[in-house]
Amino acid sequence: MPKITSDDQGRLVLPDDFLQRRQLSPKAEYWLDDNEGDLILRPRLPDARKLYIEPTTGCNLHCRTCIRNVWGDPEAKMTMDTFRRIMDGLAGLPNLNRVVFTGFGEPLSHPNILEMIQAVRQRDLAVTVGSNGLMLTMDKARELVRLGVDRLVVSVDGVKPETYADVRGAMLSQVLGNIRNLNEAKRQLGSLFPALGIEFVVLKSNLDELAGLTELASRLNAARVLVSNVLPYSEDMRDQILYGYEPRPPFKASGWPVKADAWVMWGTLELPRMHWGAERRCRFVQGKSIVVGWDGGVAPCYALSHNYTYFAIDGRQKQVSRYVLGNVNEQSPSEIWMSEDYVRFRGEVRAFHFPSCPNCELRDTCDLRAHNEGCWGWNPSCADCLWAQDIVRCPLQICVWRCLRAAR
Ligand code: SF4
Ligand code: SF4
Ligand code: SF4
Repeated sequence: MPKITSDDQGRLVLPDDFLQRRQLSPKAEYWLDDNEGDLILRPRLPDARKLYIEPTTGCNLHCRTCIRNVWGDPEAKMTMDTFRRIMDGLAGLPNLNRVVFTGFGEPLSHPNILEMIQAVRQRDLAVTVGSNGLMLTMDKARELVRLGVDRLVVSVDGVKPETYADVRGAMLSQVLGNIRNLNEAKRQLGSLFPALGIEFVVLKSNLDELAGLTELASRLNAARVLVSNVLPYSEDMRDQILYGYEPRPPFKASGWPVKADAWVMWGTLELPRMHWGAERRCRFVQGKSIVVGWDGGVAPCYALSHNYTYFAIDGRQKQVSRYVLGNVNEQSPSEIWMSEDYVRFRGEVRAFHFPSCPNCELRDTCDLRAHNEGCWGWNPSCADCLWAQDIVRCPLQICVWRCLRAAR
């Protein structure tokens, strides 16, 4: 631990080697956090790396697994004014390298989605799109290829038509046909991109089809399959969960060959954790991600980006309130990112200074927990978060696409 001294006017002098190691400018600004007697210097750095944009909360589907079945939030689209404000503020986040169009709604249903993607690509940032795939017409597929979207993640929750229809209320043949259109558009335009990922939310009712996923991925030439557990928003979904307190046998995983031009890569299947564990890690915060909702409100993650209820791992129902740290219509994304509350929140999440509610004797009766607050004074609290346990996963976060990028 480097020793630092203050000068005769009480100014702290940080050692040069410390500044170099942390890549901090001598003029860097800090928040001085007085935390239970400890003084913590929290750098104010515009170091966000990934920006999530929620173009809309509207969707063409009504999936059984969807948060939209229980929330009270409006169905609305991001205005182009709000979107332009985000774009205008991007220069203030020099480390940003990727924009992800997703959220709780179907991005391809936004009438200006291609214009939005183009605006991001003109700033030389990589683009990921998350979609249910049902609005991916041949024309849209061609545009995604032409605009240089480099990852597309499509949700496919069943290998059999009846299983898929049971979850999504739609036809599997349609989404598979659309994915084939995309592959054809890539072939015609001579591009390997967007690389295709498949998200599969595993339930009791589709568990048997997990084994067929790799074959499906291989047929569709998907580079990656990400399996997530379901976050149970409804009683119906609560009956479908496969994870629990106790360790249980992992699912089996295997790879498959993925054609990438003259190369053949190995596709990967990533599986979630299946039980509550001691290790907690927030991929949103660790990945320096910032989430902008349809109305310009900024949240630290998906889990805190809306108002909704869900059932925690022990079945306790929780009311989650949206945690907005600012709005891009009033402040730039970098000002919000470097604000006192946001910097402190990220620091606490990195250190995971939250108790573990599912292990607490008061878990069945605690009112704080019911409202997603924490007994150590935190509101919101991450103490029940299934995302930080890697039980529920975001398909748009984990970067195992490197081999495909290398082949570009
Ligand atoms: S596609 Fe996504 S946003 Fe639309 S209803 Fe299904 S889960 Fe919800
Ligand atoms: S908020 Fe605190 S007291 Fe309440 S259940 Fe969680 S750990 Fe226990
Ligand atoms: S730990 Fe969970 S609730 Fe907390 S910031 Fe991360 S994803 Fe959001």
